[in-house]
Amino acid sequence: MSTNLLTPPTRAAATPDDGFSGEQKRYLEGFFAALNAKGISFGDLAPAPAGPAVPAGPNLDDLTKEERIKHDLHPFDAIEQLMLDARWNAKPDPESIFRFKWNGLFWLSPVKDGYMCRLRIPGGVVKSFQLRELAAISRELTSGYIQITTRNNFQIRLIEPKNCPEVLRRIQSVGLHSKGAGADNIRNITMNPCAGYDPMELIDVRPFVNELATHIISSKEFYDLPRKFNIAFDGGGLVSSVEDTNDIGASAVEIGENDQGIEPGVWFRIALGGVTGHQTFASDWGVLVKQDELIKVTLAIVRVFIRDGDRTNRKKARLKYLLEERGFEKFLSDVEELGKFKLLRLPADSPVQLARKFSQQGHTHVGAYPQKQDGLHYIGASVPVGQMTAKQMERIADIADNYGTGEVRLTVWQNFIIPNIPAAYVKTASKALSKLGFPTEQSPLRNGFVACTGNRYCKFAASDTKGHAIAMMDYLDKRVKLDKPVNIHFTGCAHSCAQHFMGDVGLLGTKAKGESGEGYHITVGGGFGENRKVGRQIFSAVPFESLGTTLEGMLKCYLAKREEGETFHTF
Ligand code: SF4
Repeated sequence: MSTNLLTPPTRAAATPDDGFSGEQKRYLEGFFAALNAKGISFGDLAPAPAGPAVPAGPNLDDLTKEERIKHDLHPFDAIEQLMLDARWNAKPDPESIFRFKWNGLFWLSPVKDGYMCRLRIPGGVVKSFQLRELAAISRELTSGYIQITTRNNFQIRLIEPKNCPEVLRRIQSVGLHSKGAGADNIRNITMNPCAGYDPMELIDVRPFVNELATHIISSKEFYDLPRKFNIAFDGGGLVSSVEDTNDIGASAVEIGENDQGIEPGVWFRIALGGVTGHQTFASDWGVLVKQDELIKVTLAIVRVFIRDGDRTNRKKARLKYLLEERGFEKFLSDVEELGKFKLLRLPADSPVQLARKFSQQGHTHVGAYPQKQDGLHYIGASVPVGQMTAKQMERIADIADNYGTGEVRLTVWQNFIIPNIPAAYVKTASKALSKLGFPTEQSPLRNGFVACTGNRYCKFAASDTKGHAIAMMDYLDKRVKLDKPVNIHFTGCAHSCAQHFMGDVGLLGTKAKGESGEGYHITVGGGFGENRKVGRQIFSAVPFESLGTTLEGMLKCYLAKREEGETFHTF
């Protein structure tokens, strides 16, 4: 043991048999003699009273490899390496591959040599000038395709290392960014795609989304989570934000007149711990939050997760596992202690909370719908598996400018909405969108397809999800006529970016016997919101070559055998 003699030893060290050298002991004797001379005896130095229990941090040796990488060098400080790689057009080393995700850059190898860039677009709100620049970036510096993600966001692919700084610069030049879009960060914040326009919403959640996004982008504190973290705000409108699939899902509710001292009006219920990839929806334990406390409470929850989440096992590093390990009540009391506030609790079935006047389940956003603003409509367009070309994106920007106010909303269903279209232009704008390849008519079959990236660009994928989804859309459209929507989600691996467990039909990519060697495990009966349910697997490893006939048989069986009013979900 080495003790610096210039620093007086601590009380804890000054115990018998402490292993001090003779010189150190002589120092201590002098120190205690000086105390005695001031009338203080050693016995007066009682141990300090115990403070609040602080959970023991993990042993440094137990940290995961990823924790070590980011603590050796904060990923934002790896920008120097990014610039060096750009200068030599070099492939990144394994540690840089992990760190560059903090700038939204994902190395695609071994599938392809190049990066994918994922943006952050809070609430999925973009303007026409931003779309035009993204289209130009995509055409000049990437594959020329842009994809809408299931977090109302964009991705562009196949960027050479030498072009990364320019891509990031140009994204930022139009007020967008990609900071923290991957790895152990708070991912893009999602909301109802029609927020602010939906005539049935209880509250417009855009100000909350923007305020939270500003907190996240402004502070390094929020760029070192134990694992990724999803947040969604739902204003209670017709089209859901699917908030219960998030780590934090806040849903607006209406509180009526009551004798419990709760102010009537719009509040938020907070559900926690959703991870559909781990087959779990967020749980509502009765937390009710005032509008002006939503951001404070959200940040306190994130901070407890940053402090106490598991950094020794990546598989257990999501909020869900911290809640399971600690217990919900203890977790909430930790949030209250850290945030220095008291949370109000109200059971979800309390008569104080007014019932919603409609079901979100029956509504789709594809088609033209009146807004709360007199005489204006929003038009939802379906984007086959969320993919578009640069040229299509430029045309969307033109349509938004010509018929709307230049605004476009992305949806978690990988589609988009153009709002603020006067009634007189609805037909023309819808026609223009359909001609562009984005139908605006209801198609209960085609509109329900969602697909993750798949093995064309994602190294985790066991199958070509996007290609297969398009093939299945075409195959089934000719053979099955649905009168009610059926959601079919294609996901390439257990990370479940396309949230297959909550699809009416969920397809999880796997190896299979067949010409292509690719296939799917099939689950049925998943749902979200008031129909939340994790789908159950009924077929395993169905080869892609048999997928069409299998899905056709399932859908035809549903149509033939369902009872009056039965949806696929309840079948
Ligand atoms: Fe890649 Fe898996 Fe996500 Fe699909 S679900 S994009 S295969 S990580």
